[in-house]
Amino acid sequence: MLLTLNSPEAESYRRQIRDWLNKSVPEPWLNRSQEMLSSDEELDLKRNWGYSLYEAGYAGLTWPTVFGGQGLGPIEEFIFYEESAKAGAPESLDTLGKYLAGPAIMQYGTDGQKVRFLPPILAGREIWCEGYSEPDGGSDLASASTTALRGRDEDDYLVNGRKIWTSWGHIADRCYLLAKTSRELPHHHNLSVFLFNMRQPNVEVRRIRQITGDATFNEVTFENALATRDELLGVENGGWSLVGLTGPYRRIRFALNGLRQYGQLYALIEQLSNCTRESHLESIANSFQDRLETFRWHLMRLVELQANDREWYGPAAILRLTFSELAQEVTEVGLTAQCTEHDDYWRDRFLHCRSETIAGGTSEIQRNVIATSVLKMPRFGQVVRSPTLDSKSSGE
Ligand SMILES: Cc1cc2nc3c(=O)[nH]c(=O)nc-3n(C[C@H](O)[C@H](O)[C@H](O)COP(=O)(O)OP(=O)(O)OC[C@H]3O[C@@H](n4cnc5c(N)ncnc54)[C@H](O)[C@@H]3O)c2cc1C
Repeated sequence: MLLTLNSPEAESYRRQIRDWLNKSVPEPWLNRSQEMLSSDEELDLKRNWGYSLYEAGYAGLTWPTVFGGQGLGPIEEFIFYEESAKAGAPESLDTLGKYLAGPAIMQYGTDGQKVRFLPPILAGREIWCEGYSEPDGGSDLASASTTALRGRDEDDYLVNGRKIWTSWGHIADRCYLLAKTSRELPHHHNLSVFLFNMRQPNVEVRRIRQITGDATFNEVTFENALATRDELLGVENGGWSLVGLTGPYRRIRFALNGLRQYGQLYALIEQLSNCTRESHLESIANSFQDRLETFRWHLMRLVELQANDREWYGPAAILRLTFSELAQEVTEVGLTAQCTEHDDYWRDRFLHCRSETIAGGTSEIQRNVIATSVLKMPRFGQVVRSPTLDSKSSGE
């Protein structure tokens, strides 16, 4: 692993990535602000980009070599995403496989599951979605009501219920599915995760059209759908620890989010700088550049905290909040830039960024995390004792 971002080794790695990106990012993707692509064309480009990354050895940068990855660290990954943002590269479609399901399988899966699922994830041949949110709530995952139940002597589970806002559910082969496997056990102890097969008749996927006009997320209904024993990840009713905050896979996922967010901000602010014709907008664009640089420093700090196994969850929530609010501000200014050439681009980005303060945990939830993990404030309902009371109650 490279230890510092500015070492000669890091610079040489950066040059290698830049050279490859310069010759590999597809032209139609780079020109999409002039010629808007249809959703299907975008989908194809992103899918093919996943294949290109794999063939060039850039898929699974932080996956251990024993699973076919590159065995590199978060700093190399940071460099890769920074250069990808500068080169305007697409996001590949398989991030939920590579950064959620894959690492969880490496940590909790059986040998059979590792052999079956990891190679197609890495090669971008199987697309994954995340089945957490339900119509009655997405923030409180422990109250999931979709069930996966089996009879006393049966091995397989029957899945019934509904998930919603499932990104890429309509093209997914597999779902990292959270479901209730016990009617008797209490909250948090009654959930399991399945490496669920989406390609079966008892799963209905209904696309939901978004404010942008795209339909990238879905409502998924399960009616006696089958989940086999081999698809259960970890132990039955032990699913909460697989969606919670522990484990290296979660760390990797948060790092990736920060890196992708940086890439999006970089692209938005670059575009704004190109669009500003009026001087007052130019100074606003410059101030966004300054804030982007602050974001980059926070992100590097997060990556280093993670590389050194230090507490990182609070800083990740701060980063997430900063990103979503800054992205919304930039697109609001972009809309007023009166750059006719890029009107469609700004309208699309403005509408797209509305979801950034909701997806993957709302801003309110991020603020709760910051309050408890960074500011060490008590949770609602938690009794806070004064030192005097504490010493009395302990009999001192
Ligand atoms: C673009 C996009 C893609 C998504 N992709 C997926 C996906 O692939 N898979 C998936 O499972 N889900 C996905 N989601 C769903 C997303 O995770 C949820 O929308 C999010 O977690 C919030 O859940 P909710 O919408 O049910 O709102 P709720 O949880 O019902 O919350 C409603 C409101 O109450 C507030 N609130 C709730 N609890 C608290 C609390 N404890 N303290 C303070 N305020 C609170 C929330 O902030 C929000 O304002 C996606 C969402 C979007 C927008």
